[in-house]
Amino acid sequence: MIEANILPAALYGIEMTNGCRSALERLQAAIAGVIGTRSAKRSQLGSYKIQKWKRDLDPDVVQLVRRITLVRRQIDKNPEVGDVIKLIIRKYAEGHVRYDLGVREIREEFEKIGPVGFLIDNLKKHGASIDDNLILSHDGEQDIDIRDYPWQALKEEIQNIGKKARVANTAKAREAYDGLEEVDSLALQAALKRRSQEEINVISNHGSLANWTAEKLKEAGKKDDEFCQLCSKKETSVEHMQWECQKVRERRKKTYLCSLDHNDVPKHLLMGLPGSMDKNIHTTFWGKQRSEVETKDAFVRCKMGLPKDNKEWVRKD
Ligand SMILES: [Zn+2]
Repeated sequence: MIEANILPAALYGIEMTNGCRSALERLQAAIAGVIGTRSAKRSQLGSYKIQKWKRDLDPDVVQLVRRITLVRRQIDKNPEVGDVIKLIIRKYAEGHVRYDLGVREIREEFEKIGPVGFLIDNLKKHGASIDDNLILSHDGEQDIDIRDYPWQALKEEIQNIGKKARVANTAKAREAYDGLEEVDSLALQAALKRRSQEEINVISNHGSLANWTAEKLKEAGKKDDEFCQLCSKKETSVEHMQWECQKVRERRKKTYLCSLDHNDVPKHLLMGLPGSMDKNIHTTFWGKQRSEVETKDAFVRCKMGLPKDNKEWVRKD
């Protein structure tokens, strides 16, 4: 419904206009409220990320995809349009419009701004840029040639730019996402595939940081005490329910997880959002050195990515 009706109607013609910022933000929050949780504490990142479907429903991301695909469609239909777009981008780059200005400042300084100007501005917000050869550049990623990039893969690549920007912006704002640079969407999707909708809702609730601890609920006047309802211990952190509560541990199906010291795992992963893997083979998947890992259980250490203790990786060259 959101993908087929609401987004197309709400973003109709967005390629030609900047859209109303506050209306778009309200739409973004409303969609996050429908697909995720309504908690006042929730972060939209978790709501949008922890869903079974592959297509991103964030209006901010959809907007960027639509602007780029319009350019590509126009070039495919009429190659001369490509030259005009290149010329406009060149004019912007030459300083007729400065890249470092927002749309409002551009409007103040120059009289007109059209689809290409909006596109440049939109890309800038997502930490990307386009040059006058229609090459899209994005921090640390392969450049994308809009004219030649396989059509079926282009939308996904643009979506990734939008998603990455959302992660970067949210990681700055929420402590629990600290250190998260990119979400490993493939790993997340594979993990969610085997889950029921109810289970996904629970994960989404954690992942969007919507949970309130008993302590915070008491502070807010929603609960009489700060104790966990299950084990009656003081509940001061959201990790209590998932990792510390004795009653939950007794019910855990994968019992080996009881041997995991959750402090060894990045917070965002505990919340259900896997970051990208570290490139070092002698550390955990998230780059923690063997000497820093507190978990003792050999099987769990192996699951965390550490090679078995007696088989250290040695370079032969
Ligand atoms: Zn408890």
